[in-house]
Amino acid sequence: MAKPVLLVVDDDKDTLQLIARDLERNYGRQYRVLTALVGRDALKTLRQLKDRNEQAALILANLRLADMTGVELLREAHNLFPEAKRALLTTFRDTETALKSLDETRIDDYLIKPCQPPEQNLYPVLDDLLTDWSARSRPPVAGLRVVGGRFSAKSHQVRDFLVRNCVPFEWIDIERDEEARRLVGETRDEPTRLPIVLFPDGSRLMQPTNAEIARKIGLKMRPEGAFYDLVIVGGGPSGLAAAVYGASEGLRTVMVERHAPGGQAGSSPMIENYLGFPAGLSGADLARRAVAQAKKFKVEIVTPQLVTKVRVEGPLRTVTLGDDSDLRCHVVLVATGVQWRRLDVPGIDKLIGAGVYYGGTLAEAFFCRDEDVYIVGGANSAGQAAVSFSRYARTVTMLVREESLSESMSRYLIDQIAATKNIKVRLRTTVVEVHGDQRLEAITIYDAAKGEKEIISTNALFIFIGALPHTEWLAEIIETDDHGFILTGPDLQRGRGEGHWPRGWTLERDPFWLESSKPGIFAAGDVRHGSVKRVAAGVGEGATAVQFIHQYLASAER
Ligand SMILES: Cc1cc2nc3c(=O)[nH]c(=O)nc-3n(C[C@H](O)[C@H](O)[C@H](O)COP(=O)(O)OP(=O)(O)OC[C@H]3O[C@@H](n4cnc5c(N)ncnc54)[C@H](O)[C@@H]3O)c2cc1C
Repeated sequence: MAKPVLLVVDDDKDTLQLIARDLERNYGRQYRVLTALVGRDALKTLRQLKDRNEQAALILANLRLADMTGVELLREAHNLFPEAKRALLTTFRDTETALKSLDETRIDDYLIKPCQPPEQNLYPVLDDLLTDWSARSRPPVAGLRVVGGRFSAKSHQVRDFLVRNCVPFEWIDIERDEEARRLVGETRDEPTRLPIVLFPDGSRLMQPTNAEIARKIGLKMRPEGAFYDLVIVGGGPSGLAAAVYGASEGLRTVMVERHAPGGQAGSSPMIENYLGFPAGLSGADLARRAVAQAKKFKVEIVTPQLVTKVRVEGPLRTVTLGDDSDLRCHVVLVATGVQWRRLDVPGIDKLIGAGVYYGGTLAEAFFCRDEDVYIVGGANSAGQAAVSFSRYARTVTMLVREESLSESMSRYLIDQIAATKNIKVRLRTTVVEVHGDQRLEAITIYDAAKGEKEIISTNALFIFIGALPHTEWLAEIIETDDHGFILTGPDLQRGRGEGHWPRGWTLERDPFWLESSKPGIFAAGDVRHGSVKRVAAGVGEGATAVQFIHQYLASAER
C-alpha cells in the first residue's frame, strides 16, 4: 500500500522547499511528501490520489496563494479527503486572519512561517495532527472488520463500542456491499447473526457482546491487584484527570469504566472551549490523549466493567464489580457523570440504534452523508452535533422545544449554526411520535407556534435532551439531592447549619470540599451536586479531588 501523503502548498519556492525538506526528514519513513506552488496543481494532485485510492493525511497550505486563498484550497481539499488534517501556513502579521479561518472553516491549526527551528515550530503541531489522523484513518484491509446493517441496533452497539475505545475497524454494510454478502455467505454452516466481527487472526464473533469483543482485542476487564490507594469509578474527563494526577503523585490507582474512556465528552464531535486547543478537538481525541497520559503514569484502566456497589468497613472501602468480584482500597472517587434522558414518545424504544440515537459520535455523522437528519435538543451538545453533522448530511434540522436557542446554547455555537446554510432550526417544536418497524422511517412533530402536527420522513434522529445521574447503586451509602446528584463538602451541611455534619458522620472534622457524606468516598464532575457540567470543570474537579484525597490519607482520623 502506498504511504499516506503530506501535501505542502506555497507559492514561495524557498519556503516550500524548506518545509518539504523538514517534513521529509521527520516523517519520510511513514509518509510521502508532495509539494505544489499553486492551488490548482495541489487540487489536481489530490484528485489523482483519490482516483488511485490513496490517502492524504495532511495538507499544509499558505494563507495566500497566487490563484486562490489557502482557505479556499483547504475547503476543496476537505471535500476530497474529509478525514485529512488541514493547517494554514501564515506570517505573524496574518495570524488574526488565520485564526478567523480556523473558526469559520474548521481548519485544524495554523503555523507561523518559516516554522524554524522545526523541532519547536513545526513538528510538535504536526505530530499532534498526524497522531489524531492515524487514530481515525481507515484501517488497512488486514485489520478488524465489522459486517452489519446500518439500521441494526446490535450493529450500532458494536460500532459505538469500537469507536469509543479508539479501535480502528473497517465497516462493511451488508445492504450496500458485495464483499459483505460474500463474507457472510462463508458462514452459512450456522445461521447468520449480524453483526459479525472479523478479526485479523481469521477468527470471527457473531453478534458479540462488548465484553466478548473486549476480551478478543485485549482490553483489560479485570484489575491486576486486589488493593489500591484509589479506585476511580468512571472514565470521563473527571475520572481521567483524577487518574493522571493520582498516579503521577504516587497513588496506586485503578480506573473502572463501564463502556469506554472519554465519557460524555467522548461523544462530542468538537469541543471548542477547552483551554489550549484553539481549533477545538473532538471528544475522541481528548479521550485518546488522556488515556495515553494515564497509562504513562501506570494507571490501570479496567474496561468495560461496571461498578455495582461500594461498602465501607472502617478505613477499608470495597468496590464490587459487575462480575461480582471485589476490589479493596483506601479511597473511592465517584466520577460517573450523567446519562442522556430518554425521550418518552410512542414507537421509540424499538428503534434505538436503528435510526434513533442518544447522543451521536462522528462515526454516526459519516453514515448520514447526503441525508436529512433531525436533532432533538437546543443545548450545546445538540448544537455541536448539528454543526458537525452538517458537514456530511444534506440537511440538519434542529427541533427545539424552547422559544430561542439563546436560553440554552453558547453564543459561538448559535453563530456557527446561523452561518451554516444546511442547518435549519425549528423552535417551539417537539417530537411526539416516531414511526418504523425495523428502522426509523418517519417522525411526527408538533409545532406549538402553529398548533399543528406534521409527519416527516427521515432515517436519522439524534436526541440530546439533558441528562441525569445514575447513582441509585450508591443511594444507601451516600447522600444525594432529589435528582440523585451527589452532595459533597459544604453542600452536605445545607439546611443543617455550619458544623452540623451529615447523617452517620463520625469524624471531628468537616467533610472536605469534594468528599461525600462517607469519609473516603469522593465525587467529581457532572455527578456532583452543583457541578458546572463542562469538560474543564470536570478535569479541574478530578485534579482537585486528588489533593483532598492526599489530605484524607494523611489524616490520622479516617
Ligand atoms: C455531545 C456532548 C458535547 C459536549 N460538549 C462539550 C463542550 O464542548 N465543552 C464542554 O466543556 N463540555 C461539553 N460537554 C459536557 C462534558 O462532556 C461533560 O461535562 C463531561 O464529560 C463530564 O465529565 P465527567 O467525567 O464528570 O462525566 P462523564 O463524561 O459523564 O463520564 C462518566 C463516565 O462514567 C462511566 N460510568 C457511569 N456509571 C458507571 C459505573 N457504575 N461503573 C463504571 N463506569 C461508570 C460512564 O460510562 C462514563 O464514561 C458535552 C457533552 C456532550 C454529551
